[in-house]
Amino acid sequence: MPDGAGAQNEATNLSRGALRSTIPWARRATNVVRGLRFRLTVSYVLFFSVLLVGIGLLFRQTLRSQLDDDVRVTLEEEWGAAKAYLRIENKRPIWVADSSDPEEAYIVERLRRVYLLTDSTGYLLEHSETYDSLGIDPPQEIQRIVKSGKTELHERRDKSGIPYLIKAGEVPSTDGEPYFFALGRSLEANERTVDTFMGRYFLLLPALIALTCFLGWILAGRAVRPVNQVAQAAEGVTGSNLSLRIPKRGADDELDHLIDSFNQMTERLSHSFEQIRRFSTDVSHELRTPLTAIRGQLEVALFTAQTTEQFRDAMVNALEDVEKLSSIVRALLLLSQAESGQLALQKTSLDLGAIAEDVVDQFQIPAEEKGVELSVTTLPGTSAFADKTQVERLFSNLVSNAVKYTPRGGTIQVRVGPDSAHQSWARVEVADTGVGIPAENLSQIFDRFYRVRNAETNLIQGLGLGLSFVAWIVSAHGGSINVESKPGEGSRFIVHLPSAPPASVTPSPEPATVTV
Ligand code: ADP
Repeated sequence: MPDGAGAQNEATNLSRGALRSTIPWARRATNVVRGLRFRLTVSYVLFFSVLLVGIGLLFRQTLRSQLDDDVRVTLEEEWGAAKAYLRIENKRPIWVADSSDPEEAYIVERLRRVYLLTDSTGYLLEHSETYDSLGIDPPQEIQRIVKSGKTELHERRDKSGIPYLIKAGEVPSTDGEPYFFALGRSLEANERTVDTFMGRYFLLLPALIALTCFLGWILAGRAVRPVNQVAQAAEGVTGSNLSLRIPKRGADDELDHLIDSFNQMTERLSHSFEQIRRFSTDVSHELRTPLTAIRGQLEVALFTAQTTEQFRDAMVNALEDVEKLSSIVRALLLLSQAESGQLALQKTSLDLGAIAEDVVDQFQIPAEEKGVELSVTTLPGTSAFADKTQVERLFSNLVSNAVKYTPRGGTIQVRVGPDSAHQSWARVEVADTGVGIPAENLSQIFDRFYRVRNAETNLIQGLGLGLSFVAWIVSAHGGSINVESKPGEGSRFIVHLPSAPPASVTPSPEPATVTV
């Protein structure tokens, strides 16, 4: 039936629509329930509910024992009065009271409201009607109390459930026989007072809990508001907007601490992003130069070279640039291998002086070409327990930098010898009279891809990887490196390396770190 089907479709659509509109609500409700504000309120309400119930029960207990104490005191007084007004002669109780004195008559009448008198065997002599309802004590119990010669206090309920405080014990008589006497006082008024108090308190409790809920929700909202503000501000931080800082609230509390940590994190991220960006620029620049040269050489070979000689020259030049390209790629690969722990060190005892002399020899020609005087001083027998390839790399990076950053007419001195204060350590020094490093850049020169950018260094090419590698080599050998530098005067790099395996070496003169 088309009509029926239409109605059914409509109903389905309606219910789908209703479902769609309830889903955001359901989601919102779930979000509220999962939210910190809700959870804080629940904890707050639970805590206060338990506290209020606890306080109520404590009050109840205190009130009851205070009221019972009052009754106990009155009972003690009545016990003393009863002994004064009660005389027993030949198993016959006589209540001595001046009948003309209404006060005395009233006292005796009150004493006789709840009482029991038996002989020492438990034989009943006299008792009040109320005591009957409390239950006469069994003879064995009476005999035990009389024999003990002491009085006892206990609580007992009558048939209708009313509680009584009973004091029982032995009383003397004129015939010298011991008798059992029990005197009681109702605790009904106390119980009623306590019940009334508790009834009102627990009636008020839901209202108090509701008030706690309300206050808890408001307070939790206020506590959570700054967190939401921080979250909102954090949402504004993106890869291209890392300079954004969340302002502190000035409360110097945990939240300000969180904001501080967050700001520091974005600063570190921003620093890393900047390093990566600079690195991409540097790498593309470094790769572009030899690539353009190779292209030029190949074009020469293809279009203009006519003789075999010209053809050969172009090829040789192109090959040199290919070699340059490979060395850049190699350096990058090596550093990433080193930093990811894939580079195994083959440590042996090395003649450090010989290695220094070899490296200095390799750099003599470039130094001479630049008009820089390069010399080496070694103390014979200076050894290091280290990996030969890495130590060569360390020397060559430091010496190559010194040559690069020392202008014509400058000098470079490499000194190798044992550390004067710690004989188990070798000391290497590479000092130049070059451009120096500004103090504000010193702390970053060992960072990956970091290069000092100023008028002196801008024209000098490099990737900013050499010193990162040096720092890695030094720390992989448990050594240390220090830099002293003054712009315009020169730099001095001091490296300490262990001269024997770690077990036979005294602690490093400097911690295994890089310091400037
Ligand atoms: P680069 O490839 O740029 O030389 P390095 O990691 O070897 O990279 O050095 C990092 C930066 O430290 C250099 O860009 C340079 O500014 C500075 N530097 C290193 N050695 C020296 C030196 N001997 N004299 C002056 N500046 C130096």
